[in-house]
Amino acid sequence: MLARLRTSAFRARFRLGPREIAYARTKGRAIIERHAHELLAARVGPAAPANDGRQTPYRGHPVFVAQHATATCCRGCIAKWHGIPEGSALTGAELERLASIVMAWIDAELLADTRR
Ligand SMILES: [Zn+2]
Repeated sequence: MLARLRTSAFRARFRLGPREIAYARTKGRAIIERHAHELLAARVGPAAPANDGRQTPYRGHPVFVAQHATATCCRGCIAKWHGIPEGSALTGAELERLASIVMAWIDAELLADTRR
């Protein structure tokens, strides 16, 4: 999935900034993973999320940046890239799958940062 996302110039241009990297390292992976579950459930989980298509900020939390990079930012992008139709609430298994893609992207960003 991450390889497929990298074929999109739009998705591939997202990077974690220094503040988001520092935040992720300070909090630790378990807390960021919990945030990923909570933010996805609250913002894209409902059948008709509030402000769908504009609900995900572009910075401020590593999960927000990861959502744009992984096309989990809104139900339209989730439908197009992840094959989950709009119009019904995401299931626990779907949220689990999307959160694991978000975390894989964040893990890769943190690893890349240690090599810069
Ligand atoms: Zn979107």
